[in-house]
Amino acid sequence: MNAPLDPGLCGSCRHAHVQQSARGSSFWRCGLADVDPGFRRYPPLPVRACAGYSPAMRRWFILSAIGRDRPGLVAELATLVLESNANLEDSRMTILGSDFAVILLCSASDAAAGDALAVGAKRLERDHGLTILLRHMEEGPRSAVPAPGTRLYRVEAAGEDRAGIVAGICRVLAERGVNIVELNSRSSRPGPGGSPHYEMSLRVELPDSMDARALREALEAEADRLVIDVALMPA
Ligand code: SF4
Repeated sequence: MNAPLDPGLCGSCRHAHVQQSARGSSFWRCGLADVDPGFRRYPPLPVRACAGYSPAMRRWFILSAIGRDRPGLVAELATLVLESNANLEDSRMTILGSDFAVILLCSASDAAAGDALAVGAKRLERDHGLTILLRHMEEGPRSAVPAPGTRLYRVEAAGEDRAGIVAGICRVLAERGVNIVELNSRSSRPGPGGSPHYEMSLRVELPDSMDARALREALEAEADRLVIDVALMPA
């Protein structure tokens, strides 16, 4: 992405768009010029005063990327966010198998940030073999964890690896309206002659009206069926 770093007012105007040429150069374009000939489609930058300026609302984006792990990918993604005039608000990254997976939460008051992120994401897909999904969040991020009217608990499950552990435990939670806010799991390879071991850790929001003992009993009944251990405790 090589849009000018300082577009002035266009950088936060809802009429601004970032456009890419066939050669890969990027330009700030004024959308107001499409309907009002008094404005230039490609205004000289930086724009310091403009009668058409209309501040853009704060926008939120989720960007997820998956690709073969190698040094430098996180730096590429962070640079994309920076050059798109967006802020990195939250992120998660992990290596699964041989692939790297990252999820970024970005915000921007720059009206052109979404276009810039989309253009840059396409370039990273092409140049680095990444698979990228960019989503505009209509409503912005949800309230902090735990949500109002809930309390935070932890569920730990462990045992011999077998099909259905995640589905079984998560179904017990879903049927009772318990929201999962984080889930980590891993299967460890067995030693010689041993069985693979599976561990899962969740952070969940229990509605204030819910009896934790009743949920614990339901989880233990499911754990007995799956022949694993399970524990429920305040986080
Ligand atoms: S209306 Fe003015 S500030 Fe907004 S994009 Fe057009 S030239 Fe830039």
